[in-house]
Amino acid sequence: MNDVTSDTVIKGTAVVPGIAFADAVWIRPRPELPSAGPVVAEDQREEEHNRFLAAADAVAARLDERSSKAEGAAKEVLSATAGMVRDRGWRKAVKKNITSGHPADYAVVAATTKFISMFEAAGGVMAERVTDLRDIRDRTIAELRGEEEPGLPQVDGPVVLFADDLSPADTAALDTSLFVALVTELGGPTSHTAIIARQLNVPCIVAVGEKLKNISAGEKVLVDGSLGTITTGADPAQAEAMVAEYKEFAERVAQWRGPAQTKDGHRVQLLANVQDGNAARVAAATQAEGIGLFRTEMCFLSATTEPSVDEQANVYKKVLERFPESKVVVRSLDAGSDKPVAFATMADEMNPALGVRGLRVARANEPLLTRQLDAIAQAAQELGRDDNAPTWVMAPMVATTREARWFSELCKERGLTPGAMIEVPAAALMADKIMPYLEFVSIGTNDLTQYTMAADRMSPQLAYLTDPWQPAVLRLIKHTCDEGKRFDTAVGVCGEAAADPLLACVLTGLGVNSLSAASTAIAGVGAQLADVTLETCQKAAEAALDAEGAIAAREAVRAVIKG
Ligand code: PEP
Ligand code: MG
Repeated sequence: MNDVTSDTVIKGTAVVPGIAFADAVWIRPRPELPSAGPVVAEDQREEEHNRFLAAADAVAARLDERSSKAEGAAKEVLSATAGMVRDRGWRKAVKKNITSGHPADYAVVAATTKFISMFEAAGGVMAERVTDLRDIRDRTIAELRGEEEPGLPQVDGPVVLFADDLSPADTAALDTSLFVALVTELGGPTSHTAIIARQLNVPCIVAVGEKLKNISAGEKVLVDGSLGTITTGADPAQAEAMVAEYKEFAERVAQWRGPAQTKDGHRVQLLANVQDGNAARVAAATQAEGIGLFRTEMCFLSATTEPSVDEQANVYKKVLERFPESKVVVRSLDAGSDKPVAFATMADEMNPALGVRGLRVARANEPLLTRQLDAIAQAAQELGRDDNAPTWVMAPMVATTREARWFSELCKERGLTPGAMIEVPAAALMADKIMPYLEFVSIGTNDLTQYTMAADRMSPQLAYLTDPWQPAVLRLIKHTCDEGKRFDTAVGVCGEAAADPLLACVLTGLGVNSLSAASTAIAGVGAQLADVTLETCQKAAEAALDAEGAIAAREAVRAVIKG
């Protein structure tokens, strides 16, 4: 937010772009969970079980009814949730608890807790389904007690919905003319909330953390779904102007068609960030010219052992085949830190973000890396990819020239085009020594910002530091671009910075050749670039580099671009 000071802004994970300015309302609270309570007499246990069955059936029937009225992903989600309430395993676990003497409501809690632990232990996508389990638990308990269903409050005007986590069923039932943005404390970018929010195209931010509780119901909030920011105390006139401006921009975005270029025809390759075949399918439906970042580690978050070369090749093919005639940049495993991969990550590190992550894992286990490179080469070869559909490979967390040379040699031995991420400040500063070994580099602004500002990218308290608009970060990007020109090495950006339309103009002005962003952000960036000349981008870059801080940089660039 350029118009307010940083201490009024909290940040989460941006999921769906868009700007909304309205009162905050909190979702109706979940029922209070019962403790074990008195033992139910043996001759009443069957009746208690029947009471549970009737409550569960009522909840399932209500969800089915909503599903029959919904469409697309919302329909599927609602019927999947109803299916969970009917799940035999869950019902059996509840029955077992009732048979051993627990009241129905406690029996539901105990059975669901067991399933939650199992899902959490499985990790990855399974762990994100924990929200669904809590939801069916809470609905069933409310039904058993004859209480109002937890969930969406009754509202009569536009509001921003706040929740600890939104259940799929609540998200699917949203009227977006009333609920103009969604903000959750928990959740992840692939949670059901996120999936449906994308489908509904309602601005959405998830994983804000505890800080969200500091905002009370009725407080006016400005939500920016592209930046992931929630601002309180914004000037109403300015906030309304931003909403109107975004609306107008959204109309242009909907009309935009690639390939991306500035008003005066300066081309910038616009690519997509993906993590699996499904995301690649979504990306292929956008104007993306290819894939600029395939986060391979995300495919293996729930794997307990290393997949074989053939198995890996099959996983990679699912992404490559979606872009049969375009460039795909595959990143070797970035295991470690916030993305633990059981077969690759070192356990119990004191400081995992500064520890053995990314390419560093392969120093002690080169075969892990070479097997992955073999699998990438095999996937590309089996799909008949060639120079018209180049397969590039880059290493995460490169910090030294030696690492770059080592990685490059391993790639070249397999006929793969080598590159490196520039996300450790040392790599940016040593670009002139690193580039001669590589065909391309891609700047990871998420980590580059984290390490330049010495601020944990996961910390909601440090969001003002982990802002890629920080001029210190932009200066490292400028240095990398300047060296890229000198060594004729392609320089891309694949961190979240590339998803911010204004910052994309700055990056273009700095000399970046390609921008890779989440599929949802691509058209927004393309439409913004189409609106400016290269000279304006260069002026914007100068203004940002010269600013005193992130907020001032954004303000200065806004002034240059919006005139
Ligand atoms: C980055 O650090 O900017 C990046 C693109 O990598 P990741 O977010 O996966 O760490
Ligand atoms: Mg990174």
